[in-house]
Amino acid sequence: MSEQTPASGHLVDGPADPEHDPKASYALEPDYVASLTNRVVSTTGRTVAVSSPLNGQPLANIPQSSADDVAEAFARARRAQAAWARTSLDDRAAMLLRFHDLVLDRQDEIIDLIVLESGKARKHAFDEPLHIALTARYYGRTAHQHLDSERKMGVVPGLTRVEVNRVPKGVVGIISPWNYPFSMAMCDGLPALLAGNTVVTKPDAQTMLAALLGAQLLAEAGFPEGVWNVVAGLGPDVGPPMIDRSDYICFTGSTATGRIIAKQCADRLIGASLELGGKNPILILRDAGIEKAAEGAVRASFSNAGQLCISTERMFVADQIYDRFVERFVARTQAMSLGASMEWGVDMGSLISQAQLDTVAAHVDDAVAKGARVLAGGRARPDLGPYFYEPTILEGVTPDMTCFGNETFGPVVSLYRFHDEADAIERANAGDYGLNASIYTQDGDRGRAIARQIKCGSVNINEAFGATMASIDAPMGGMRQSGMGRRQGSEGIHRYTESQAVATQRGVRFSPMFGMSDEGYAKVMTAQLKIMKKLGRA
Ligand code: NAD
Repeated sequence: MSEQTPASGHLVDGPADPEHDPKASYALEPDYVASLTNRVVSTTGRTVAVSSPLNGQPLANIPQSSADDVAEAFARARRAQAAWARTSLDDRAAMLLRFHDLVLDRQDEIIDLIVLESGKARKHAFDEPLHIALTARYYGRTAHQHLDSERKMGVVPGLTRVEVNRVPKGVVGIISPWNYPFSMAMCDGLPALLAGNTVVTKPDAQTMLAALLGAQLLAEAGFPEGVWNVVAGLGPDVGPPMIDRSDYICFTGSTATGRIIAKQCADRLIGASLELGGKNPILILRDAGIEKAAEGAVRASFSNAGQLCISTERMFVADQIYDRFVERFVARTQAMSLGASMEWGVDMGSLISQAQLDTVAAHVDDAVAKGARVLAGGRARPDLGPYFYEPTILEGVTPDMTCFGNETFGPVVSLYRFHDEADAIERANAGDYGLNASIYTQDGDRGRAIARQIKCGSVNINEAFGATMASIDAPMGGMRQSGMGRRQGSEGIHRYTESQAVATQRGVRFSPMFGMSDEGYAKVMTAQLKIMKKLGRA
C-alpha cells in the first residue's frame, strides 16, 4: 500500500512469497477476516474461498450456512424480537444515529473492503457509506413521524375515536446482491430494525465481508445480540429456508430471481418488496446544457462500471444537439482512467466476475456482429485486471440485438437520435422495465411534465441518478418488471409494519337503539348518510 492509502489498519502488503505463489497471502489480516466471518451463522465447517476481482488475490474463506443454520438464525432473531420491539423508539433511533457516526468514522475501512471485494473504483465505493449514512440519519431523525400511532377520522364524529398503530411484522428476511455490497446489505434493514423487527440477512456470496462489517458496526452501535443475523450461501440453497421462516422478504436482485421469490412468498402469504433490474433511459432534450449533460451521461452510464440497477443503458438525444453532445460524451468517456487500485483518482474499476465480463462482451459482440458501431470502448482490458472492460458507447443498435432491450448490467450504453419528444418518451417507455430515468433540459417545468409521462419509479432531472437515490424522504423502486414496493421514505419503513386500527366507541352503537326496528334503524342511518354528504364530510 502506498502512503496515500487510507489507513484502515487491516490491509496487508500483498503476496508474501510471490516467487512461489503469487496468490500466497491474503490481502487482509487473517485475524481481521476471522472477526468478520465469525459473524456468519454456520456450523457446517464448509467454507467457500473468495478472491478480489482486482487481481485474483484470495480474500477470505466464507463459512457456509446449512438449512439448519438458517433455522438457528431465525430462532435467534425470533427470540430477540419481542424485547427489541419493547425497546423505546427513541432508544432504537439513537442506535441508528450512533451507527451513522460509526459508518462515517470507519468509512475508509468500509471502502477498502468494498473495493477489494467488488473491484470498483474507490469513488464509486464511497457512494455506499454515503448512502447508508443518509439512510441512518433520515430514519433516525424521522422515527416518530413514521411510527407513532396516528389518529384517524371516526365514523361518528366525536363518538368514535380511531387510531392506527404500526405493529412490527416480526422477523424480516433480506436477500441482497453484490453490486453495492455494503449499501444493499444494510439500507433496507435499517428501517426494518427501527420499526421493531429483527433481521436475518443473506448478502451475495461474492461480497460477504463488507456486509459482515456492517453487522459488526451495528453491534458496536449498541444493537443487541440477535437483532441482526447473517447467513451465507448460494441463493437457491439458502433463500427457500429463509422465505419459509420470514414474516416479510426484502429482495434486491435480478427480475428472474425476483419472480421465483415472489412465488415462494405468495405460497406463504407473506409480503415482499422486490427491487429488480432495469434498462434505464436518459433523455437529452434539445435545450440541454451540452457539457453538463455529457458529464452526467458519463456518471449515469459508467458508475460502478455500469453494474448499478439505476444505471443508464439507453440514451435518447435530440437531433438538434446530437452531434455536439455525442462528440463531448465520447471525448469524456475516452478520457476516463481505468485501473485496479485501492486509491482515489481512478474513474472506473473492474467488473466483478468472469460471468459479468462474459455477459458484457457477449452483448457488445452481438451488437457489433449485427451492424452496431462502437464510438468508444468495446473491448476487454486484461492488461488492467482479469475482468476489466472499457466504457463502451454504441450507435446503430436495433431491436434484433440483445442489448437493445435486455439489461447488460455493465459499462455499455446505446445512443439513439430523436426528432420529437413524444417519440422519445414512447421509446423510453418501451420494454418491460421501469426503474429509473434521467432527463437533461434547462427548462425544469418541461422536464417535470415529461417525467410524469415516463413509466419509471424514479426520474432525475439534470442529474444521473443520485438526486432521487440520495433523497431518502422520497420512495424509490421500480414500476412494471423492475419491482414491487418501495425502499426509502415512509413506504420504505411502513412495508415492515402491519397497520392496526383501534376504534373506541362511545354513546351510540351500530344496531337499533331505543326500541327502534331494523327498518327504522336503516332509515335513520340513510338520513344520516345524506346529511353527512351535504355537510361535506369524507
Ligand atoms: P441475482 O438475482 O442473481 O442475485 C441477487 C441475490 O439473490 C443474491 O444474494 C443471490 O444469492 C440471491 N438469489 C439468487 N437466486 C436465488 C433464489 N432462487 N432464491 C433466493 N435467493 C436467490 O442478481 P445479481 O445478478 O446478483 O444482481 C444483479 C441484478 O440485481 C441486476 O438485475 C440489477 O439490476 C439488480 N439490482 C436491482 C437493484 C434495485 O434496487 N432495483 C439494486 C441492485 C441490483
